[in-house]
Amino acid sequence: MIDDNVTPIRQQYLEIKKQYPDAILFFRLGDFYETFDEDAQVTSRELDIVLTSRNVAKGTRIPMAGIPHHAAENYLARLIEKGYHVAICEQVGDQPVKGLFPRKVTRVVTPGTILEPELLRGDQNNYLVSLVVLDSHAGIAYVDITTGEFSTTELDSPDLPSSLRAEMLRLKPAEILLAEGIHLNGDLPGHSSTWPSWRFEFARCEETIKSHFNVAALDGYGLRGKPLAIRAAGALLQYLQETQPAALKLLNSLSTYSLSEFMTLDAATRRNLELTETIRQGDTRGSLLSVLDRTITPMGKRLMRQWVSKPLLDIQTITQRQDCVEYFVQNGLLRAELREILSSFADLERLTNRVVSGSASPRDLVAMRSTLALIPGLAALFSAQSSPLQTALNQLYPLARELNLLQEAIQEDPPATLQHNGIIKPGFSSELDQIMVSSAHARDWISGLEVAERERTGIKTLKVGYNKVFGYYIEVTRANAESVPSEYIRKQTLVNAERFITPELKEYETLVLNASERIHEIETRVFRQVCADLASSSEHLLSTARTVAELDVLASLAETASLNNYIRPQIVAEPVLNILDGRHPVVELTLRGERFVPNDASFEAGEVVRVITGPNMSGKSTYLRQVALLVLMAQMGCFIPAREAAIGLVDRIFTRIGAQDEIHAGQSTFMVEMIETANILNHATTRSLLILDEVGRGTSTYDGVSIAWAMVEYLHNHPNLRARTLFATHYHELTQLSDLLPGVRNYNVAVSESEGKVIFLHKIVPGGADRSYGIHVAQLAGMPKPVIQRASEILKQLETTSGKAVRIDPQAPQQMALFPETNPLLEEIRKLDLNALSPIEALNKLYEWRKQF
Ligand code: ADP
Repeated sequence: MIDDNVTPIRQQYLEIKKQYPDAILFFRLGDFYETFDEDAQVTSRELDIVLTSRNVAKGTRIPMAGIPHHAAENYLARLIEKGYHVAICEQVGDQPVKGLFPRKVTRVVTPGTILEPELLRGDQNNYLVSLVVLDSHAGIAYVDITTGEFSTTELDSPDLPSSLRAEMLRLKPAEILLAEGIHLNGDLPGHSSTWPSWRFEFARCEETIKSHFNVAALDGYGLRGKPLAIRAAGALLQYLQETQPAALKLLNSLSTYSLSEFMTLDAATRRNLELTETIRQGDTRGSLLSVLDRTITPMGKRLMRQWVSKPLLDIQTITQRQDCVEYFVQNGLLRAELREILSSFADLERLTNRVVSGSASPRDLVAMRSTLALIPGLAALFSAQSSPLQTALNQLYPLARELNLLQEAIQEDPPATLQHNGIIKPGFSSELDQIMVSSAHARDWISGLEVAERERTGIKTLKVGYNKVFGYYIEVTRANAESVPSEYIRKQTLVNAERFITPELKEYETLVLNASERIHEIETRVFRQVCADLASSSEHLLSTARTVAELDVLASLAETASLNNYIRPQIVAEPVLNILDGRHPVVELTLRGERFVPNDASFEAGEVVRVITGPNMSGKSTYLRQVALLVLMAQMGCFIPAREAAIGLVDRIFTRIGAQDEIHAGQSTFMVEMIETANILNHATTRSLLILDEVGRGTSTYDGVSIAWAMVEYLHNHPNLRARTLFATHYHELTQLSDLLPGVRNYNVAVSESEGKVIFLHKIVPGGADRSYGIHVAQLAGMPKPVIQRASEILKQLETTSGKAVRIDPQAPQQMALFPETNPLLEEIRKLDLNALSPIEALNKLYEWRKQF
């Protein structure tokens, strides 16, 4: 309802605000974005800016907070970071002679729909995800509107929350779109936005996708029989239509992926193996990614992250990648040349997107120009010989026409924004050239007018002048006023002079005065045409950007392989595991001064479970993680730190690692451990790799041993399991299993002992460990000596009763406790000169001491 009392601009504001109740409305007023009412309160509070007020009706003032439009990006970033959505309402078109500027919301910025380069991380995708959940099924669609990647899939899982969480951890979305009223169990990463549930209805979503791609059927996108994927993708498109209509142009394809194309890595495994970030700091440093990633371009960095998160399951594809990496390993010079060229490459993927969505700046086109200029040189690197890279290189387009266009159209060093003139090169637009020429001509003409007219009229005192009210004029003294030519039009009479204009003068004047505005208008138009022209090549531009990303990643993997001395593993279909002298890719680089001890992981025929015993701190966890990481790297197509390796394709890596347990809300550590273990036993297959570290530690010894024992039996005996398993434990009892089950082998970490000193050799050798050395570690850690001595005694007692619950002899502790080594009493007794002490003095001393207790 419009209240007649309120000002027209308030009415306009309210009408627009009504359509965006959930967003903060940035309402453009001249050079400011203003926010009003509650929005103003939020904005002023969150951004720490002054809250003012504005009159909107007689006697009514409302809160207002404004930010200057040229600094909007920074403020926008801070609001988005805090989880707000911001609707940006611009003045559109020209100001009418009477009344208000027309205004329109041009985009709604949400965490998943940011375009501003300053707000985006170059090395990561910024995904917007949409989820549809039905019983144990889910549809997932994701899009990165800065790169044009748009994909969808369906998930079917008895444990949907954890499967969803695993996929979300892989994608690390900036924003997740859910239907209103949907609450998912388990915390998902990223900001979540709700959207009315009718937006997710099947028919509407199907129609949205069809009309977006202008197709009659969706089968071509692999969506047949995937209603949930269609709903997720359709809702995502609708969301973009509302928030970022310009971004839709970039989405020219939709790919359906299957999670079965990739090795499944659940959330715990991703975390435990520290693929893209470390557990403790959550930092990329110290992760597998940090070791492998030597990419140079931003799109290469994003692709590397994707590859690390998505090891492959297809031997042929893995082999192809390996061939390419090997090619780059062998051609070091070529690799160096490629990397040199790439070092000048801009983010072509995101640049293309900005061109397509209409948000490119003149400098973006300069960056694109210098990047496209590198492509012929890049292509020439590979032209001489045929190589395994050929398939990838087929997607690299020369883009000569686009380069040419940019070279001809855009000035060498144009201003940063479209607000200034000087963007378009002379010679590109005849319209622009004409106006430049005629404005220059007009200036010349006007400046030459005084001399010319004096000569023509013979009036020596004739002057040409300019003022704001009349513009250019010809001034003649009153005495000469009568002798002016007939075409002079009298404009103004002063005391001593008359001022005239001529039609010709006014024409030139218009040319000069309007030229700058006209030039701006034409330049903006021509700039947009150039962008539109480039946008029509977006497929080739994107495809080239992605090929460059791939070359970058392959060359980076080769670079790491060469520098860190990796080899090419053989990938086979049979479930073998044969790694000789493997190393942990991250730990081997972090050991200062010490040498990393390589270890084999070569399973004999029939070996299923490898039980590894050994003292704490000897290297069991490192070994376990190392095996998992090497398998994962191998299936990425990457070379690995080893002397030699044959790896049978692994469908899933499961890890259960006890050490750095995070405490989940309301669950005990032991409960979490058992949930994760149950998940492993329920989902592992004969092709999986299981990494189990200290399972059962969270409970009493007997419970723990029993659970661990039963698990090994189950893993070993269950026909659908028999998965390659590495089981590290400090329960020595488990070493007995190798006598009972033919597929169980015992290994331990070698320890050298001489003169009471223990040295961990970090070498995994066959056989069970005979001692735990826990007490030795306690000693290294600086535990007080009495505790160490007492522990050794108790250990001896336990060993003689073979671990049964025993009654600990209470005598020993008291004897020891009486005179702990640091007791001052002891010191005093030691210092006493007994020979000089009379019996009575001795007795007094005793009384004195007794008083102290
Ligand atoms: P555990 O799991 O047996 O308690 P870790 O695997 O955590 O032991 O290893 C303890 C430390 O020993 C590691 O931080 C690392 O510095 C070192 N280490 C482990 N394995 C090796 C190895 N193969 N070569 C050299 N040092 C190693």
